Amino acid sequence: MTESQNTPTTERDQLAPMPEDWQRALAVVAHPDDLEYGCAGAIASWTDAGREVAYLLATRGEAGIDSLAPAEAAPLREREQRASAAVVGVDTVEFLDHKDGVIEYGTALRRDIAAAIRRHRPELVITLNHQDTWGGVAWNTPDHVAVGRATLDAAADAGNRWIFPELIEQGLEPWNGVRWVAVAGTDRPTHAVDARPGLERSVRSLLEHRAYLEALTDEDPEKYCRSFLGGFAERLAPRFGGTPAVAFQLFGR
Ligand SMILES: [Zn+2]
Repeated sequence: MTESQNTPTTERDQLAPMPEDWQRALAVVAHPDDLEYGCAGAIASWTDAGREVAYLLATRGEAGIDSLAPAEAAPLREREQRASAAVVGVDTVEFLDHKDGVIEYGTALRRDIAAAIRRHRPELVITLNHQDTWGGVAWNTPDHVAVGRATLDAAADAGNRWIFPELIEQGLEPWNGVRWVAVAGTDRPTHAVDARPGLERSVRSLLEHRAYLEALTDEDPEKYCRSFLGGFAERLAPRFGGTPAVAFQLFGR
């Protein structure tokens, strides 16, 4: 992820504080670890304040560890995800069982996410970067693009009774109460949260993905998590009045 370090910061670039007049959020991402890399520090602050946050993962991240076959990786990564959610005060973690690496953007994915939005009735929906790149030439993965876009779309689908009428038959009445979709890990942020209160927990939350991290890097896992998350928050500080930040691109509805 590359924040545009070379662009001079101006008043115009300042990030607005994230809205706080909400009670329930649903975070929808493709893989275990997406939220821990993206915005777990902000989630820790929100649950501290008594807000409810639930996680919905499109896959179990079963294709994420080269040395581990999917059948073994799936339950391991699910356990790691539940543990990392618990660190930031999130007890509800659900999985859709789309296929890791080859998630297809389409009506099946939109319907699954819309169903979850109707069940959880969130005011804020959170997802991960759906753009082609992380900024510059750092290419994003097709899973993130598919799930991010489908989540932005499903926020509207959830409110329309004539889209996916089969959900009504399942007892899932429309929920038109999503007020914002916040996209984490974006190179075009508009809003932010003070990263400091949740930073230590965001490090511990990412650290819970131990098997994944051990396969990913030879670096000491704690050092790696701290420098990644701390460094990212610091780089956003000039755009948030000097405060290290967790940033989002906020789409109002
Ligand atoms: Zn991912």
